[in-house]
Amino acid sequence: MSSNESKKVFDEGAALLLVDELRGIFASGTTRSYEWRVSQLKALSKLVDDREQQIIEALRSDLCKPPLETVAYEIAMLKNSCRVALKELKHWMKPEKVKTSMTTFPSSAEIVSEPLGVVLIISAWNYPFLLSLDPVIGAIAAGNTVVLKPSEIAPATSSLLAKLLEEYMDNSSIKVVEGAVDETSALLQQKWDKIFYTGNGRVGRIVMAAAAKHLTPVVLELGGKSPVVVDSDINLRVAARRIIAGKWGCNNGQACISPDYILTTKDFAPKLIDALKTELGKFYGENPLESKDLSRIVNMNHFARLRKLLEDDKVAGKIVYGGEKDESKLRIAPTILLDAPRNSLIMKEEIFGPLLPIITVNKLEESFDVINSGTKPLAAYLFTNNKKLREQFVTTVSAGGLVVNDTTVHLATHTLPFGGVGDSGMGSYHGKFSFEAFSHKKAVLYRGFKADASVRYPPYTKTKLRLLKALIGGSILGIIRAIFGWS
Ligand code: NAD
Repeated sequence: MSSNESKKVFDEGAALLLVDELRGIFASGTTRSYEWRVSQLKALSKLVDDREQQIIEALRSDLCKPPLETVAYEIAMLKNSCRVALKELKHWMKPEKVKTSMTTFPSSAEIVSEPLGVVLIISAWNYPFLLSLDPVIGAIAAGNTVVLKPSEIAPATSSLLAKLLEEYMDNSSIKVVEGAVDETSALLQQKWDKIFYTGNGRVGRIVMAAAAKHLTPVVLELGGKSPVVVDSDINLRVAARRIIAGKWGCNNGQACISPDYILTTKDFAPKLIDALKTELGKFYGENPLESKDLSRIVNMNHFARLRKLLEDDKVAGKIVYGGEKDESKLRIAPTILLDAPRNSLIMKEEIFGPLLPIITVNKLEESFDVINSGTKPLAAYLFTNNKKLREQFVTTVSAGGLVVNDTTVHLATHTLPFGGVGDSGMGSYHGKFSFEAFSHKKAVLYRGFKADASVRYPPYTKTKLRLLKALIGGSILGIIRAIFGWS
């Protein structure tokens, strides 16, 4: 290895130096000020405005992502997050006054949001721009110093992020470390004040185990099998279009909240399949492998993984639409399967690609049992006009988020927390929840020197005990009785 190459190795020693440097910067107080936070949010917003075309090109290179999807789901969402943070930051930072109790009378209290310190953000490849920078917005807004580790599986976006953040942001407080398992492992050895990880649950467990060594809190944004329950008394065309938009219109199914499978009744399944076929034909034409409006599969590993799901003996005869593949271009057409067995690989693993199994049930209500018998998904969707079914769905299905009569759009609602539950993750972000994810809510109680009640001090007498009990009981009459020694 040449001396030039050896310099570039990012190992544990380099990671330790980096964290130490950032700890020093954080201790200096620079990142705590409102002005610094605003300047960085504005810089990020400018970066997105100035470099839109480069971002589109990087995503085209990594995923053949259609420009419209890049603009809608990566650029516009990020700009919106910056806009919300800039608009609300003063309000978010303001200490929240809270009531105090009789026990501490007279006193006042407030909750102060303080930055955690030095935070690590590890991001995934499927929305590599948004998933890297959206948590960074929360970390900056909350006043932290940040290390971002983008995904090596989207290399063009990773290197663009490193370049642009260096050019636009405060480099002393916001750093990018590019790399794969070795570099991430070196980072994970260090003591952080928070780790925010987006990706699969297997690595999520590695992240959490590393964090546990230092008692570091984590946000884990993971995935899962997000189901769609489809009732029969609905606007079928609209439902089909919205299912397609959430599945193939989101990075060709390579999205954490894309519909993973559909549940509907045996009777209704043929109608639903016809509607999906009609709309898919209109959207992607007769030869979807050539469509410019579908992302490709990210790499050969993921292509092979998806091919294996389709080539499973148990599902090979279940394809009712699509199934075409072009290995040389890493393309797989939108594919629908009917009644793949529940014990097939495709029904056991998160699909994360353009394959959509439809599972039939006798009664639609059974769908909720099917969902709840698996691990908790990141999202669950229901199409219905039936109020009772909707209520049952909201009360019985546990998932990171629910949407009724659409798919994926809860992601764009910044007033809702975005995150998983159980196997789909822990913690949440977006809007104010991003600020909170990177803040500590510090409890502060203020007292003066007056009214120094002797009840808390020895010697502990019977009168004091009576007064204490009256105080706990909260009865004014009881307190007066105890003070004057009346029985
Ligand atoms: P990935 O392969 O890009 O991995 C994510 C990150 O983990 C990368 O930065 C990578 O360098 C790091 N990593 C990989 N192996 C590691 C190891 N052994 N030790 C330490 N770090 C390691 O992304 P992925 O996991 O393939 O992403 C897809 C998964 O992420 C799906 O399950 C999807 O549902 C989920 N996801 C969730 C969200 C969300 O917001 N909840 C968003 C996108 C993706």
